[in-house]
Amino acid sequence: MKKGKMIILSGPSGSGKTTISHCLLSKFTELKFSVSCTTRSIRNNEIHGKDYYFLSVNSFVSKIKKHQFAEWEEVYPKLFYGTLKDEIFKIWKSNKHILVDIDVKGGINLKQQYPNNSLSIFIMVNSIKILKKRLFTRSFFEKNNKTNINVRLNKARKENSYAKLFDFILFNIDLYQTKKEAIHIVSNFIHGK
Ligand code: 5GP
Repeated sequence: MKKGKMIILSGPSGSGKTTISHCLLSKFTELKFSVSCTTRSIRNNEIHGKDYYFLSVNSFVSKIKKHQFAEWEEVYPKLFYGTLKDEIFKIWKSNKHILVDIDVKGGINLKQQYPNNSLSIFIMVNSIKILKKRLFTRSFFEKNNKTNINVRLNKARKENSYAKLFDFILFNIDLYQTKKEAIHIVSNFIHGK
């Protein structure tokens, strides 16, 4: 069995992580998305077990106590997100590489746990104004409220300062270009160049 690798995609909410993650997953059949657990409520277009495992707070806490998470964070106040150890090993066992879409602290944490077989990429939006516009557009479709957007913007300001701890920083100015760069970096990493 070839040694499993891990691609860590991090960056502020609205930076384009999810779009880039979908692009990478469709480009590389050897990559598999790591489905995280979350206690936030399910959105209209989401599917349990595909986008997230949607758990109650009690069930999430019970998994923390049983040490079932490789990492977990209270990403937003009272909203927990975590990567299950089982999810990671299941993917590696199936001979695939893992792609995680994760908040910045979680990304740094996983990189520390798997320093030799992981590649961490920070998706950066260098204008808070652009980020705000993206989050507003998204909230229009997803019924987020304004408070939620402000919480995400404040977090984004802090998160940008951790970008230097990642292997690569991708400035998402032009989405086409960003996808192209992401494909190039990931291809080199998984094909061992
Ligand atoms: P959303 O609620 O928009 O799906 O995700 C909010 C944030 O949580 C995003 O930055 C996403 O990358 C992050 N996230 C998703 N899964 C995990 C996880 O397993 N662990 C951590 N630490 N963050 C996660």
